[in-house]
Amino acid sequence: MQENKHREKYIIGISSGHSLLDKGAFCHFTGEYEFYYTSKLSIKIQEVLSYYGYTIYSPDSITDKEKYPDHLKHTVKLLNMHNPHLAIELHFNFFEDKKVNGCELLYNEEGKNFAALLQKEICSFFNVKDRGIKTNENKYFISHTEIPAVITEPIFLSNENDIKIIEKETFDRDFSLVLLKCLDIYFLKTDILP
Ligand SMILES: [Zn+2]
Repeated sequence: MQENKHREKYIIGISSGHSLLDKGAFCHFTGEYEFYYTSKLSIKIQEVLSYYGYTIYSPDSITDKEKYPDHLKHTVKLLNMHNPHLAIELHFNFFEDKKVNGCELLYNEEGKNFAALLQKEICSFFNVKDRGIKTNENKYFISHTEIPAVITEPIFLSNENDIKIIEKETFDRDFSLVLLKCLDIYFLKTDILP
């Protein structure tokens, strides 16, 4: 893999979906809420991407104690102010039908290429069902960010087999490394630096 030599020039916006007062979906298999998973994944991603040289901006420490929808609006406002090259909001999926499984990513128009790339890499690395990339104007995060933005939903918290993937001790690190690979490919291709 070709390494991106200019990582520090790229700012990556990372936000854990939900907050302490809006914990998201409840996983019946593990007894944990979605926010437990998104917050620890966000911390690991920030650690790994900074270690490999990317510049990170995360509004998490400011918005994590706010109620819905304040934390979401505040997150988007802070991201727009800091103007990263790419913004990622972390979620995990949930559905009443426990058989439903797999990975899907949501994107705004500017984030579509990155979403397609990340979707492909997540599905092949973790061997999860590819549900495709989608856009949804009702999702505040992707419709109000003024930068390429993606929402990740790598698995369903309601599916017993999907849960095994994120319950692995290495999941957060592995996911961060998949993300790192995609960022390198994406920024080398888009070549947005002068
Ligand atoms: Zn969520």
